[in-house]
Amino acid sequence: MDKIDFNDGLLGFLDASSTPFHATQNMAMMLENCGFERLYEEGRWELVHGGKYYVTRNDSSIIAFTYPKRRDFTIVGTHTDSPNLKLKPNPVIKEHGVVKLGVEPYGGLLLNPWFDRDLSLAGQVSYLSTDGSIKTTLIDIKKPIAVIPSLAIHLDDKANSERTVNKQTDITPIVMCGDDFEIKSFIKDELERDGVDDVEEIYASELSFYDTQSASFVGLNDDFIASARLDNLLSCYVALISICSVSSDTPFMIVASDHEEVGSDSTSGASGNFLENVLKRMFSDYEDYVNMTRTSILISADNAHALHPNYPSKHDKEHSPYINKGVVIKVNANQRYASNVKTISKFMDAASKVDEPIQYFVTRSDMGCGSTIGPITSTRLGIDAIDVGLPTYGMHSIREICGSDDAHSLYKIILGFCR
Ligand code: ZN
Repeated sequence: MDKIDFNDGLLGFLDASSTPFHATQNMAMMLENCGFERLYEEGRWELVHGGKYYVTRNDSSIIAFTYPKRRDFTIVGTHTDSPNLKLKPNPVIKEHGVVKLGVEPYGGLLLNPWFDRDLSLAGQVSYLSTDGSIKTTLIDIKKPIAVIPSLAIHLDDKANSERTVNKQTDITPIVMCGDDFEIKSFIKDELERDGVDDVEEIYASELSFYDTQSASFVGLNDDFIASARLDNLLSCYVALISICSVSSDTPFMIVASDHEEVGSDSTSGASGNFLENVLKRMFSDYEDYVNMTRTSILISADNAHALHPNYPSKHDKEHSPYINKGVVIKVNANQRYASNVKTISKFMDAASKVDEPIQYFVTRSDMGCGSTIGPITSTRLGIDAIDVGLPTYGMHSIREICGSDDAHSLYKIILGFCR
């Protein structure tokens, strides 16, 4: 796929994937279009060599794989979740002439960029159906229905020097004037507008606020792509297009897990047994299973901090990735990243054969370092891994910035890597 089509598809995927549930649904849809067959964890698997399959867990994590006779898999690991403001179960607050909805921050989000945005709400809803069964469905309101206004500078003359944001009191989105609002009937009405007309009672929901501003090219020469959730839908998209581009006799797998931003400890997170169970069902003979884990390589793809031109001192000078200068290999002596010399060499070899540049990221020795699903997955399964990522400004902001060349470059390297 050429870069223009690739980036067009990326922008559409970002806009359509407002939550991990929507990202998973969109990935499943694209996989079906590419000939992948859906499996269910609770069903019996009769895998056929030459087939292509996918399976989801919690509707928010997804694994897809080819199933050739070879066992030396290239596995691309990513995550579907991004930091956001999540609705509390009893969110409605009526005070000071307005209705506000109480939220709980999910993950390590930058709070300041959430002010003065046109926010909407999306996620998963579980309800009692008129036929007596419990059903789940996705919802994306799309229309801007909420805003968190800044406090005017006239009311806080230290706003630019000392203002902090209190997570409990300062970031509650406002949805309307007056007090005529009830959350369950609001959700029910929205579902009805979407054609879901069998709702007897809303039981539970997992809804998140998101910025309605669409993903966009930015810059004099369209050098940048600005969007919400680039971390890590950018890598999800690269993984998805990669697996749709390889032939069914190439051993290839993608794993997109939920809950990375909160530590990966859940049934659908990378610390859970989702991937392990899938691999054991693919390779039920223990010898084959161990052989696969020791001949396969995990490419853990998650965004990397590009050197911010206004804050250069935050980076190690020799390991400062630039936007549009290529995929970043992440290295950490303390194993916060899983890259090792063998996996780095193989990745560099693939990059050089397709003539794509690479860069290194090592965090400053006097600063902390994020982590990824790379070390978690390789520790759990014994699969060698490399941590890579695409250079990004403003990670965990409501609007992040990446380069318009780098994602396509990673895609080309991955296709070279899995040959
Ligand atoms: Zn990430």
